[in-house]
Amino acid sequence: MKAILSERNGIAMKVTLQHLTKTFPSRSKKQPEDVVAVQDFSFEIPDGKLIGLLGPSGCGKSTTLNLLSGLLKPTSGRIFFGEDDVTDLPAEHRGVGLVFQNYALYPHLTVKQNITFPLENRKGKDRLTKQQMAEKAMEAAKLVQIEGLMDRKPSELSGGQQQRVAIARALVKMPRILLLDEPLSNLDARLRLQTREEIRRIQRSTGITTVFVTHDQEEAMSISDLIVVMKDGIVQQAGKPQEVYDSPANLFVAKFLGNPPINVFDAQVRSQTLYIGDEAVLPVPGVSDQLVTAAVRPEGFILSEQGALTCNLSGVEVMGRDISVVSTHPNSQNLTIRSIISAETGVAPGKTVRFDLKPAKVFLFSRDDGTRISF
Ligand code: ATP
Repeated sequence: MKAILSERNGIAMKVTLQHLTKTFPSRSKKQPEDVVAVQDFSFEIPDGKLIGLLGPSGCGKSTTLNLLSGLLKPTSGRIFFGEDDVTDLPAEHRGVGLVFQNYALYPHLTVKQNITFPLENRKGKDRLTKQQMAEKAMEAAKLVQIEGLMDRKPSELSGGQQQRVAIARALVKMPRILLLDEPLSNLDARLRLQTREEIRRIQRSTGITTVFVTHDQEEAMSISDLIVVMKDGIVQQAGKPQEVYDSPANLFVAKFLGNPPINVFDAQVRSQTLYIGDEAVLPVPGVSDQLVTAAVRPEGFILSEQGALTCNLSGVEVMGRDISVVSTHPNSQNLTIRSIISAETGVAPGKTVRFDLKPAKVFLFSRDDGTRISF
């Protein structure tokens, strides 16, 4: 690990994406327009940080990653590693470590051979002796804690162990950046949790600038220094996970982040007051009269007998420290409203339940385009 770390000393590897666009030709006669997989993506990934690239299926995450790796060429825009413009540099010269969802280990090779594989074909001054390769493989294996499994074949490993071999194989080249495409999706829930913490630890200890692609918001939020939320090839918002959660730029981002999901209501602003149905639920100073979409985080509800918002009580789910109050409301866009309340607060049995709302947990969005309306 020391060698991997020391070799990289002094490399300031920020990654800059400048107006990156990738279009694919349409193969459909019905829809002859090109597919815009990534559109005008500009972002600077600071040196040594872990970025979570997040969004629903088809939003352009893998395409972005493949542009960074060099497997795809952008239609327009530029990519810089540090100060180097790598846009026209082939993948093999970019110095990226890639880990995919299907680890693609060579089944007939041992763990050690799989890890050393990327070092085998080096030429000239980069050529390594068998001894040097073995040392590097061992360093990378130690980093992901599989040094005891070096002589096994992939079929003799668990899914999590296989994934670690894939990560070790990506690290052994001492990459300038590490790109991980849904690396945990083949693992079961417990292993996923464990492996994502592992990835975070490895990333911290190597300091390699890393891009982590996932459609799982919880995964991205939990391990990323910064998240970038994409939709239809367009970046919706980028920032620290907590900041994006606390201040979503639009309704899509608000809905995409958070579990249980945010509760969305058809609402209205009249005289700087937010109305859900006939009830005045919150003062919204400075907001003009209009129809709006109001969204309330599950932790934004306060149970109160005289609460401003009345919902129909469906049930209560015990979650240990907290309880989840499940209710409905005619103006709710979600089938059920979920509010997370401390388990110490009991819910009185009855047909209805009333809440006050925490202003910092309520967001208003334009009915026209879903952009945020501040108050
Ligand atoms: P997923 O989470 O499902 O992997 P993603 O966010 O990684 O999705 P991409 O694979 O980047 O999405 O795809 C973005 C868009 O580009 C999609 O509409 C996809 O159909 C399209 N696309 C991707 N690759 C090609 C290709 N080679 N030719 C044509 N269209 C493509």
